[in-house]
Amino acid sequence: MLKVEWRNGLGWSNPQIIQSGPIALHPFAHVFHYANECYEGMKAYIDSNGNVRMFRPEKNMERLNFSASRLCLPAFNGEELLKCIEALLKVDKEWIPRKKGYAMYLRPLIFSTTPWLGLTQTSEAHLYVMMSPVGPYFKSGFVPIKLAVDSKWIRAWPGGTGNVKFGGNYSPTVMAQRDAANAGASQALFVYDKEQYITEAGTMNIFLFWKNNMGEIELVTPSLEDGTILAGITRQSVIDLAREWGECKVTERMLPLQEVLDAFIREDVYEIFGTGTAAVIQPISSISYDGIDYSVPKNAFSENAFQVRMTNTLTAIQYGEIDHPWSRVVA
Ligand SMILES: *Cc1c(COP(=O)(O)O)cnc(C)c1O
Repeated sequence: MLKVEWRNGLGWSNPQIIQSGPIALHPFAHVFHYANECYEGMKAYIDSNGNVRMFRPEKNMERLNFSASRLCLPAFNGEELLKCIEALLKVDKEWIPRKKGYAMYLRPLIFSTTPWLGLTQTSEAHLYVMMSPVGPYFKSGFVPIKLAVDSKWIRAWPGGTGNVKFGGNYSPTVMAQRDAANAGASQALFVYDKEQYITEAGTMNIFLFWKNNMGEIELVTPSLEDGTILAGITRQSVIDLAREWGECKVTERMLPLQEVLDAFIREDVYEIFGTGTAAVIQPISSISYDGIDYSVPKNAFSENAFQVRMTNTLTAIQYGEIDHPWSRVVA
């Protein structure tokens, strides 16, 4: 793993690559009490020529700096950290699985080690990058999941930290996840406000491919403007590719749950899917709300479905099968 320490006035220490394992911290370290920490999730892939590739990694560096600034954790130089990550990947290249669908997952993490009882500005912090080989999310192709609308627990709200990859957003969703499982679903669909605006599905961004109430074929996802949505890099990539394809209208906006339920009743919802680095695209088969299951049609998962073509294009870029500026050879 990679380790870099920061001290107020001194800045970042020399980065070190050390053996993965336990670390020693003072129990007063701010992170344990006040959750001053943020993280990233990214993957490294091996292409058919044996090159190690990363997908838009500069975006993860930007987002980690954005998260750190929201929590008054120290900023860093993104290109320099990427050089350190490249060095780490070179050391452990043999551990990166070589099959399509497999990858090395990277988990950058910054937290405050400031050893005071009081909640002060951060004076000491650590940055780590851990890695783990990961297999495909689904061993046997697409496996759609069910969502259950969660009107009880609010994941994020305007002025909060929903757009920050900050641990404090995630530990309270473990309970929502348990409730969703008890309701027979795999993930909670988070909504907020009286309009029950749709926000995210578990820890994924959400998209609908449908005929909207104006009769237009549209790809729609909740907008980033109110700060409740984590700005996923997969989300942005799906938006960018869909605009390039030009098959449908592509919209980012506030999306009331009722508008979606009405479209289900009209049978105008063609596909729903989640996006994120782990699954790339996660097909969704149904949304349950108020005891009713609203399901997408069977052909939502066929070969020429929008989400299937999008998955194929994104993974082809990630594994270097299509030459694309989003994929960077790093080692
Ligand atoms: C990380 C994350 C995502 C997905 O972001 P990607 O950059 O696409 O991996 C979506 N929602 C939440 C809440 C997340 O934490």
